[in-house]
Amino acid sequence: MNEKIMDGKKVSLERKEELIKKIRLLSKKLTLVVISVGDNAASQVYVKQKEKMALSVGYDFLNLHYDAIQEEELLAKIQELNLNPDITGIIIQLPLPDYLNKERILNSVHYLKDVDGLTSTNLLKLIKKEDGLLPCTPKGIMSLLDAYKVDFSGKRVVIVGRSELVGLPLFHLLLNQNATVTLCHSKTKNLKSYTEMADILIVAVGKKEMITEDMVKEKAIVVDVGINRVDSKLYGDVSSDAFSKVSFMTPVPGGVGPMTVISLMENVYLANQLQTKIK
Ligand code: NAP
Repeated sequence: MNEKIMDGKKVSLERKEELIKKIRLLSKKLTLVVISVGDNAASQVYVKQKEKMALSVGYDFLNLHYDAIQEEELLAKIQELNLNPDITGIIIQLPLPDYLNKERILNSVHYLKDVDGLTSTNLLKLIKKEDGLLPCTPKGIMSLLDAYKVDFSGKRVVIVGRSELVGLPLFHLLLNQNATVTLCHSKTKNLKSYTEMADILIVAVGKKEMITEDMVKEKAIVVDVGINRVDSKLYGDVSSDAFSKVSFMTPVPGGVGPMTVISLMENVYLANQLQTKIK
């Protein structure tokens, strides 16, 4: 099985080393800010992970946490950070409490500081193949497939899941690489008829092992984005039985997860480059 694993942990460590070398050459220290609101315990764990990673590559890190904050006050704070030349990247930690307008808040981040790649401006740039900041999970998946020299041109790619965080941006990234892409979702009828035709299958749904071995084409390349915690064990969206017939597949954990984190760190570096170019 080992030779079939697309090892996100290994590739992310290699990319981290390369990134640290580039960061050491910068004349100023870059700063990442994470803004979180409310008492979501899982969010604080994710913020801590981002802080640890940011410090380990040589960035400064600022954790702005509010137990509660009014929308206008939060927007004013984001605008202040947008204008502060010492701040390189801004992350709005999701989920936000329901009383806040998520779209309005995400879009208030300046697109050159939007290191999560979630503003409408950056989505449009992705579609139009312009320089911008890509969402971290799709960016990480593309980097991982690139490390394993996967060629997309003319390939039949099926993505299951159309979220703005994963499936939708991936659709455009793969289309831009000349793949023929089909995007499936919860209203897709006879999902198997699509997945079993895929040369490259990417699954981002969030349902434990919903893709069974018989739904996967022989010798396919499979990217399993799903993270499903059951009885404190992690499962992907694809059954590990599929390893027996694929040519490559990502494990869960150790596949897409580490690639997402390193992509965020790469985006902070890229944000600084783009900001310098615009000045
Ligand atoms: P999401 O926003 O809940 O989107 C799920 C997508 O799956 C939706 O498009 C939904 O369709 C579709 N779907 C639901 N049931 C389906 C079914 N039976 N058949 C086909 N499609 C179905 O989730 P997300 O944020 O994209 O995340 C998906 C999974 O990836 C989660 O497990 C999440 O934890 C994981 N994830 C992992 C990473 C990482 O770094 N490894 C990063 C992000 C997310 P509709 O649009 O029709 O509702």
